[in-house]
Amino acid sequence: MAFDKVITRFAPSPTGYLHIGGARTALYCYLLAKKHGGEFILRVEDTDRERSTDEAVQAIIDGMEWLGLKHDQGPYYQTKRYDLYHKEIDRLVSEGKAYPCFCTQTELATKREKAQAAKVKFRYDRTCYNLSESERKQKLAEGIPHCIRFLSSDEGEVAIKDLIKGEVKVAAKEFDDLIIRRTDGNPTYNFTVVVDDADMKVSHVIRGDDHFNNAFRQIQLYHALGYELPEFAHCSMILGDDKKKLSKRHGATSVMAYRDMGYLPQAVRNYLVRLGWSHKDQEIFSMDEMIDLFNLNTVSSSAAVFNTSKLDWLNGHYIRESKPEELKDEVKYHLTRMGIAEGDIDEGLLLKGVEFGQPKVKTLLELAEFIDIFFKDVPADEGAIKKVIKDSVKPILKRIHEELSTVTEFNKDTLHPVFEKVMAEFEVGMGKVANPVRVALSGKKISPGCFELLEIFGKDKSLKKIEQYL
Ligand code: GLU
Repeated sequence: MAFDKVITRFAPSPTGYLHIGGARTALYCYLLAKKHGGEFILRVEDTDRERSTDEAVQAIIDGMEWLGLKHDQGPYYQTKRYDLYHKEIDRLVSEGKAYPCFCTQTELATKREKAQAAKVKFRYDRTCYNLSESERKQKLAEGIPHCIRFLSSDEGEVAIKDLIKGEVKVAAKEFDDLIIRRTDGNPTYNFTVVVDDADMKVSHVIRGDDHFNNAFRQIQLYHALGYELPEFAHCSMILGDDKKKLSKRHGATSVMAYRDMGYLPQAVRNYLVRLGWSHKDQEIFSMDEMIDLFNLNTVSSSAAVFNTSKLDWLNGHYIRESKPEELKDEVKYHLTRMGIAEGDIDEGLLLKGVEFGQPKVKTLLELAEFIDIFFKDVPADEGAIKKVIKDSVKPILKRIHEELSTVTEFNKDTLHPVFEKVMAEFEVGMGKVANPVRVALSGKKISPGCFELLEIFGKDKSLKKIEQYL
């Protein structure tokens, strides 16, 4: 390879959030760069000034950071690089590889209609390329508005050797003279992307296959500009379960929406890497394994179908496999979103709560809802209280309260005998005793178990909570 090192880039247009498809592209770029000890660039393609926003840039950066995809260079902003684009456009013009076009929108529309009526593909007819040198000079001197068009070759083929899609050739005459600078002075996407990728020494252009057709245009520009061609890898689309392109109709498409639903970054990352890439029949990959095993040659060229149950399965796996320590920050994020101040989240309690919840939940949101009572007074669910703490169970609660008052330290060994004793007195099973105590302590239909709560709340708080119902 002609490049010194592997350099990849993720080049989002900041007009929304970090989309699942974009995140997969970013992940593949990151993995390839890391695998080869190279660099991963973040480039913000913000030339559409009306639709680009700072919030969207931040949302993309946040999403990447959450997924653990740290860039080595950037973010670069295309709107800060116009001098370079103009320098290269002017160079092409001076080399006779691009030319000013003075045709008006109306003139072009008429030509397009004519082509349509004749049922032929519209190609710009090069009216302005065919102007004589003096006509061109005259028009420029008069200050007639003009764009700049790239002089596309009519000969031969434009060939791409895509690492995912294979080799594809298109006759050069299929392409007309692309506008590279609009009449308003703005360089266009296909041009800026080529200049940037070459200037940033990008060795592998990895992106969605919605850009595959653009690659031919870009290859022509690479040749004309005298740049070294990078490798191209166009990833197949991600489809919803109805086999249509993944969109909001199928549910959330923003990476951060998955975070807010309680998915772990490890699970989302693992899910994304497998959307179109595989290594034997392995399903679970740590970041290090992904870096080690990832390979563009084994990325599938057929479309991937988004499958929420597989993501759920991975999420459950990572929740159960992780140490509470590894989950605590993410659970804290959910707790704070539920209105609990960060200062009120005791680290020790949080770790215990995570440990109790791990075997019982599918998402970290569920886990946070499970243990919010450790950190704030949550009003009891009246329905749960009415249903479980009936008058008939109050004598049981009373006896438990009396017995618990005599226990100094609350742990499994000290608490179980208390319950056994009360069960025997009332001739009932464990559920009849433990469930009312659990509901008195939690105020919830679903919560950590009675013994877990007693341990967490400790003696004073537990007794007070039970007293409310006596
Ligand atoms: N800015 C383009 C987009 O967001 C990507 C360009 C590229 O990767 O070449 O679709």
